[in-house]
Amino acid sequence: MSVTKPAVASLGFPRIGARRELKFALESFWAGKSGAGELLDTAEHLRRRNWILQRDKGIDVIPSNDFSLYDHVLDTAVMVGAIPSEYGWAGDDVALDVYFAMARGAQTDGEEAGCDHPDHGRDVRALEMTKWFDTNYHYLVPELTQQQTFALSSTKPVDHFLEAKALGIETRPVILGPVTFLKLAKARGGDFEPLTLLSSLLPVYGELLSRLQQAGAIWVQVDEPALALDLTEGERAAYVEAYDAIATAVPDVKLMLASYFGSLGDNLETALSLPVAGLHLDLVRAPDALADILAKAPADLVLSLGVIDGRNIWRADLAAILERLRPVIDARGADKVQIAPSCSLIHVPIDVDLETELDAELKGWLSFAVQKLGELSTISGGLAGANVSDALSSASEALAARAETSRVHDRAVSARLASLKETDRNRRSGFADRIALQRKKLGLPLFPTTTIGSFPQTGDVRKARAAFNRGDLDRAAYDGFLQAETEKTIRLQEEIGLDVLVHGEFERNDMVQYFGEKLSGFAFTRHGWVQSYGSRYVRPPIIFGDVSRPEPMTIDWWRFAQAKTQRPIKGMLTGPVTILNWSFVRDDIPRAETCRQIALAIRDEVQDLERAGAAIIQIDEAALREGLPLRVSEWKSYLDWAIDAFRLSASGVSDETQIHTHMCYSEFNDIIAAIAAMDADVISIETSRSKMELLDAFTAFDYPSEIGPGVYDIHAPRIPATSEMTELLDLARKRLDDRQIWINPDCGLKTRRWEEVKPALKNMVAAAKALRG
Ligand code: GLN
Ligand code: ZN
Repeated sequence: MSVTKPAVASLGFPRIGARRELKFALESFWAGKSGAGELLDTAEHLRRRNWILQRDKGIDVIPSNDFSLYDHVLDTAVMVGAIPSEYGWAGDDVALDVYFAMARGAQTDGEEAGCDHPDHGRDVRALEMTKWFDTNYHYLVPELTQQQTFALSSTKPVDHFLEAKALGIETRPVILGPVTFLKLAKARGGDFEPLTLLSSLLPVYGELLSRLQQAGAIWVQVDEPALALDLTEGERAAYVEAYDAIATAVPDVKLMLASYFGSLGDNLETALSLPVAGLHLDLVRAPDALADILAKAPADLVLSLGVIDGRNIWRADLAAILERLRPVIDARGADKVQIAPSCSLIHVPIDVDLETELDAELKGWLSFAVQKLGELSTISGGLAGANVSDALSSASEALAARAETSRVHDRAVSARLASLKETDRNRRSGFADRIALQRKKLGLPLFPTTTIGSFPQTGDVRKARAAFNRGDLDRAAYDGFLQAETEKTIRLQEEIGLDVLVHGEFERNDMVQYFGEKLSGFAFTRHGWVQSYGSRYVRPPIIFGDVSRPEPMTIDWWRFAQAKTQRPIKGMLTGPVTILNWSFVRDDIPRAETCRQIALAIRDEVQDLERAGAAIIQIDEAALREGLPLRVSEWKSYLDWAIDAFRLSASGVSDETQIHTHMCYSEFNDIIAAIAAMDADVISIETSRSKMELLDAFTAFDYPSEIGPGVYDIHAPRIPATSEMTELLDLARKRLDDRQIWINPDCGLKTRRWEEVKPALKNMVAAAKALRG
């Protein structure tokens, strides 16, 4: 029996190019090495290639306007004319230099900008950047004033739709919905909710949609991922207001309202009440939502079922998905169902086939964006009665292999996890007893000074690493180079007068990759780039198997460094939660379990460092906060296992050994109890830009342990004066006991230059001395 085929929809495809073409075109343009024409040509070429690729893969609903030169939230701000005045926009077409000034800041005179407009000589900062929901993609935060007016200021969605149409490809334009846009925006200069601007924003959406309609668009995908968040009644009402207004303005445009990154949960009724033609659901994150939706969705609502994981890289269980979907098609009819990835594919790498250095077995387990499109086609074909048995059995075999192989399952690891005891999670004594022993052993002055770990990764360091990786520099020469850098850095720290030294992390490419490459259970790609922000892409490690530590990872460097000085060198490790959160993780065991496995590997390293003589060991958890689930109701369970993992990693040492942790966030209020439960002896945090207000959370909680509030903003090239730092420290002393305070920069110094670092640290040490005096 032949049934009509449900449409296969793609919600968005990676824009960066399989060979990072967009990055290179952008950076060459920014460096003035190529013109706007070349950049725009590359962009057009990438769009065309993506459309054709998706068409050839059998995708029925192909997106347009998913492409962006930098960021789709920035594009939306520009599209609605939300461009703060300092960017020198004259209200006409938004020029590239205005766009990139919003993205990256600008320090140019008019001439350099290649423009004689008087306003174009400027020195403006970039918009703030923050994480896109719970992904590692960062968007630019739109800034709106209370008197904000909006006007359609870019026709990019229409232009791209027409561009595809000229190639003979009918697309479904993607736009960011008005409620999510406002929810992500921030209020400038005042205390008002950006959402109060909704009614003045909506006409712009109406105008855009009617232009898309005139251009021939039948469907438009409106992304509203905020539907997966905890919303207030007011925010839900905003959805109703927004979509009623849009439906009234452009009644004939069919909207596919796309939710993703989680369940609609208590926003389901709201979503179902909106006058839209379709609703997309993330059934990977929220598999249980399907039954509810089927029971409640009106019969004529087109359901887009996100069944292929847009956030992870594993081949799917196609047979199981088919079984799940068959009854849905039977009940609703193939024309009322679309098969889709759970979200846009910008969060996964592009093509497994480019990975020539991964072994065939591992490659056979993976599915990147291109492969995911193939999986979707198979599912749709299978639902329509086509013979897809080869594809299904190949997927099932890959899964079966993963389920059985000792490459994934390490008995020793599971046995060790099973035998963990409560005492493995606790330091022997409480903080008060520990700190007394540690103070005695370390003999540090009041207000001890230290740094967060890394020192400048200069061009020389990166060149040497690249040469070593290419094979142009042999191991001995490379190690010699790193040793010289390390020793120089130790001498310098002594000269500056820091109390607790670090080795400088010159041997590390990245704080997660360095450890991942030394642990079992991790794999690395060559081309598996994913956009982090703008032209910055990352290649997250892939955790495919049980994690263990075959041999020590940092001991030699620690020993080398400590042999050069009488002052204590901190052992420097990345924590289990951060390693987990910055990797692609297994889908066959809970994240919590992988996290505990990593914790045990780090614990071994901590104990080895202690045995080697380290009196202070820092375990960085830079990404602990960003792992928080989108829904507050899920925070506790995350924090429970995350904190447990940190404690497992840190608790194997004697009371005398001092455990530090470091976190670079700007918010602690809502997780302060969990931070305290980590039971670190010292925590360093980023406070220089918040005037120490961040410490209020610690004061209010009566946080018992020691704290290094950052006094030096390492994000900017400027060198803070001693007086600036003493002022900040005075603010800290109002909030903490003197005995609690350490003095350090906000974060690692790897992105700074020596010319900045040396005087800044000297000033910092002078600030400490002033306080002690
Ligand atoms: N130890 C690391 C460094 O100094 C910490 C970096 C971070 O927290 N992001 O580079
Ligand atoms: Zn940091």
